[in-house]
Amino acid sequence: MNPLLEAHRHTSKNREELEGSKLCGCCCCIGIFKTTEIVAWTGLDIDQLDNPETAGGETALCPRCGSEALIGDRAGYALTPDFLNKMNQAWYQTTRRIKLPDRQA
Ligand SMILES: [Zn+2]
Repeated sequence: MNPLLEAHRHTSKNREELEGSKLCGCCCCIGIFKTTEIVAWTGLDIDQLDNPETAGGETALCPRCGSEALIGDRAGYALTPDFLNKMNQAWYQTTRRIKLPDRQA
């Protein structure tokens, strides 16, 4: 499996993993911080939106940008800006391409 795809799986349903980690990194805002900074969890699972049982708060939300894009150090990846940037490019930049109008005022 693509290592970035494999790593991306750690960004959801990761409560147990993050609670066992000291540091975590955010693939969205490229922040690296202590897992104790995480204050919010979501149960949203895009694969199982119709299943209320998944709303158990098992996925961490980034305390800085609010994204479900956190990976704990226990996942086994080097939480470096370089790694997080690669994850960011693989998963988020395509959705951020907002074309601004070209016309001049
Ligand atoms: Zn973030």
